[in-house]
Amino acid sequence: KDSTDARRIKRLDDSVVNRIAAGEIIVQPANALKELLENSIDAGSTMIEILVKEGGLKLLQITDNGHGIDKDDMNILCERFTTSKIEKYDDLERISTYGFRGEALASISHISRLSVTSKTKASPLAYKCQYVNGQLANSNGRSDPNAEPKPVAGKDGTQITVEDLFYNVPSRLKSFRSKSDEFSKIVDVVTRYAVHTKRVGFSCKKFGEPYLVLSTRPQATTEDKIRTLYGSEIASELLSINLTGDELSGTEGSPAQDFGLLEVTGFVSNASYLNKKKITHIFFINDRLVSCNPLKRIINSVYQFFLPKGSHPFVYLSLKIKPENIDVNIHPTKRELRFLHEDDIMELIRDKLHSLLAATDYSRKFRSQN
Ligand code: ADP
Ligand code: MG
Repeated sequence: KDSTDARRIKRLDDSVVNRIAAGEIIVQPANALKELLENSIDAGSTMIEILVKEGGLKLLQITDNGHGIDKDDMNILCERFTTSKIEKYDDLERISTYGFRGEALASISHISRLSVTSKTKASPLAYKCQYVNGQLANSNGRSDPNAEPKPVAGKDGTQITVEDLFYNVPSRLKSFRSKSDEFSKIVDVVTRYAVHTKRVGFSCKKFGEPYLVLSTRPQATTEDKIRTLYGSEIASELLSINLTGDELSGTEGSPAQDFGLLEVTGFVSNASYLNKKKITHIFFINDRLVSCNPLKRIINSVYQFFLPKGSHPFVYLSLKIKPENIDVNIHPTKRELRFLHEDDIMELIRDKLHSLLAATDYSRKFRSQN
């Protein structure tokens, strides 16, 4: 081929496009796990069990007791942009589910060997399918348009099995230095969801090991969950934060302002909790796990005032913001989001946190004087 030929613009194969897109959404096993967890929560599950082998690269299996998937939907389940959660663009304004893009299972099927077993209440049997590159596969793992869901015995709910993640993305596979790092990231994601998600219990296990790495009960209170997941030392030093109604309409004496902040709840460690090891920030905005740098900044600035240098707080905050003020559609991983009145909202939270810590700090000093 001469050089002009090489420069011609060619259309990429669908399979190439899809694999590239998948690699952007699923960067590491923990990303796949988060998508699957969210699907299980969206399905109304009360118990979600996770099994992991080799940091999720060999096996990632999520079993839930949610509403299941209809047998007749299983053929398009893993195609891109197939979803049961929205029908039109406007639905995004009122979205109450985690998912809406219909991309997660499709992506995973392009970069792993995926199988799904599911049973709805209405069906006497569970059905099992294998997928490859968005399509149903036969038992040899080859794409096969005539493949049929296979009836199997099973409980209500869904089991998703992801094997050999990134088997066809060798450069990505090489980039993972340690399987135990990947496992820690998975446990971290599960732990955060376990703290936040009400009425859902979680358990997580390493393949071949008898004990559970973590386990929470669906009915446990948030405090109980934090105790179970982070230890009793933290649990006895927690302050509950709860901002609703009038407190959110501007500071006292000033005219009521509407920043679109509906509620702030959570638990934060008090001024006598001394921990040199690590910072724990768990932030959910409208039930989405986010990493919110402005929130981190104000939290650090407040605690700096109360804690000795080098000591780190535990902070779990859940914000509810008017959905129309939020853009969740910034990035496929949805880890970042934008909302209106960010500075004002941060100021409100900073003031509240400061007065909460000041109140308990004062009582501590007062006690020690007597
Ligand atoms: P999205 O969550 O954006 O809709 P996904 O690719 O994650 O896209 O899932 C596609 C569809 O598969 C979902 O809309 C849902 O109907 C179904 N689904 C996926 N996981 C589960 C599950 N654990 N239980 C029930 N249905 C599921
Ligand atoms: Mg999803």
